[in-house]
Amino acid sequence: MEAFEKQCQSCGMPLENGKKSGTEADGSPSKLYCTYCYKDGKFLQPDMTLEEMKKVLDTTIGKEGLKGKFLAFFGKMQLKSLKRWKV
Ligand SMILES: [Zn+2]
Repeated sequence: MEAFEKQCQSCGMPLENGKKSGTEADGSPSKLYCTYCYKDGKFLQPDMTLEEMKKVLDTTIGKEGLKGKFLAFFGKMQLKSLKRWKV
């Protein structure tokens, strides 16, 4: 069995060994992306850019106090190393 990535390769959220995985076209769990980014083999927001994803982090976890700001800051730094955004 292939290993799951530790985190979603689109938004950086932990995949927790498939518990938060999106689904492939055949219904199997995605090994790369989470349920918020990926469903039925497709990105939910295929046109999203890296800058937009950074804004999502700011407006979601970034709103949750000082700790959230901290997590959003580091989340944004690591986005560039994820498969979806690598050039
Ligand atoms: Zn994701």
